[in-house]
Amino acid sequence: MTMIGHLIDGVMREDAARTQDVFNPSTGAASKQVALASVETVEEAIAAAQRAFPAWRNTPPAKRAQVMYRFKALLEEHADKICEMIGEEHGKIAHDAAGELQRGIECVEYACGAPELLKGEHSRNVGPGIDSWSEFQALGVVAGITPFNFPAMVPLWMYPMAIACGNTFVLKPSERDPSSTMFIAELLQEAGLPNGVINVVNGDKEAVDVLLSDERVKAVSFVGSTPIAEYIYSTANANGKRCQALGGAKNHAIVMPDADMDNAVNQLLGAAFGSSGERCMALSVAVAVGDEAADTLVAKLEEAMKPLKVGAYSDRSNDFGPVITRAHQQKVNGYIDSAEADGCKIVVDGRNPQVEGFEDGFFVGATLIDNVTPEMVSYKEEIFGPVLQVVRANSMEEAMQLINDHEYGNGTCIFTRDGEAARYFSDHIQVGMVGINVPLPVPVAYHSFGGWKRSLFGDLHAYGPDAVRFYTKRKTITQRWPSSGVREGVSFSFPS
Ligand code: NAD
Repeated sequence: MTMIGHLIDGVMREDAARTQDVFNPSTGAASKQVALASVETVEEAIAAAQRAFPAWRNTPPAKRAQVMYRFKALLEEHADKICEMIGEEHGKIAHDAAGELQRGIECVEYACGAPELLKGEHSRNVGPGIDSWSEFQALGVVAGITPFNFPAMVPLWMYPMAIACGNTFVLKPSERDPSSTMFIAELLQEAGLPNGVINVVNGDKEAVDVLLSDERVKAVSFVGSTPIAEYIYSTANANGKRCQALGGAKNHAIVMPDADMDNAVNQLLGAAFGSSGERCMALSVAVAVGDEAADTLVAKLEEAMKPLKVGAYSDRSNDFGPVITRAHQQKVNGYIDSAEADGCKIVVDGRNPQVEGFEDGFFVGATLIDNVTPEMVSYKEEIFGPVLQVVRANSMEEAMQLINDHEYGNGTCIFTRDGEAARYFSDHIQVGMVGINVPLPVPVAYHSFGGWKRSLFGDLHAYGPDAVRFYTKRKTITQRWPSSGVREGVSFSFPS
């Protein structure tokens, strides 16, 4: 069986004292094995990154950017192969994988602008003959820890910009679908990156804990579930590291009575069930304002869901694929069971769909649940499956209060034709990424991505301008070149 190892100092290695199976979720069969790095292996990766740092830091930003240009070209050249790898281990259909990869490539494009982004700030004559400027210097070795659901895109949120800023990097991808992540890192190496600038260690908590405790690692970017994000953030901070830790979500869409219902239904279908709902920006709750709007919405959703096709990643005519593991399939089914036990109406039931030829795959069909209320476990927690819940509210204020009271604050959306209502919504909602008639308001690469409340621990968001700040530290220099022969007297007052 193929073994997925580590990339350390430009060399692929196995170091497989411990291993784990990697599954093809469409068939349910183990197809590969992944090595789980030991403490020593992670320390070697950190040491390689540490050795590579001085030369890479001093490489002109324009030269660093040239590597990113070549990297982008290689990603485009190998796009089909990458999407196949994502499909085989994650389960998403090729059209969806292609969208993920494209969003990752856009982050590489943004990193190509590093020479411009790192120009700093300059003020002439802040005092007589005194100039002052701020520059943004690389941190050193930085680490990234990433989730299973975007094995190509989320790592690309992190290391292209970190590396373009002059840092060296150790990435710990998800152990559940590591092949595409590893292949993409090899492409970056092939693009001309010096050995040791990018290192990838596969593994689990053992590997992560080394990255969190080793004092050579200066900053940690994390994306994953909220309990782990909180652990990463508090541990990294306690160890003196800069940290940004993006967590889970429960994204609500408010459907106002004046909304274009057919359009809202189409948008909700894609945003709730695309990628089997395994997106941190998936819309998993529709809050319908008024019973009439709710009845119309539910009836139209039920009708529109009839032709939806769940199936293997390899068939492009499928709308979405399996969920990631057997355990996760059971967990999603368990949330549907609990909603039913709580008295909800299961309008469309996706438990145990039959997928011909793929009977052992980890499939859950599109599910619609009506009459959900805020105290239910299935409402409070992130389901991360193809399940859309409908909550009924009497007013927009009540709908907004639900969202503001929820633990998570990643993304949200309002469907309306009323500009005043939309403006009030975007102004007052306690959520980091807001859509107005846009169901998945994932910011483009030259803005930054991040939620509020327990969807993000830290101050700076991922990618875009915030990434330049996260992966650099500011140094402010104040300079004077006195004219020869001029001597100033001693002054004990604060300079002003
Ligand atoms: P996860 O938290 O299980 O794993 C994320 C990473 O943490 C993996 O690399 C994993 O190996 C590591 N990890 C797991 N348990 C650990 C532990 N006890 N100690 C140290 N490290 C540990 O997340 P997942 O299931 O891979 O991904 C799905 C989750 O990620 C969902 O909650 C989703 O909302 C979230 N997510 C959030 C965003 C965002 O931008 N906010 C984006 C994508 C995914």
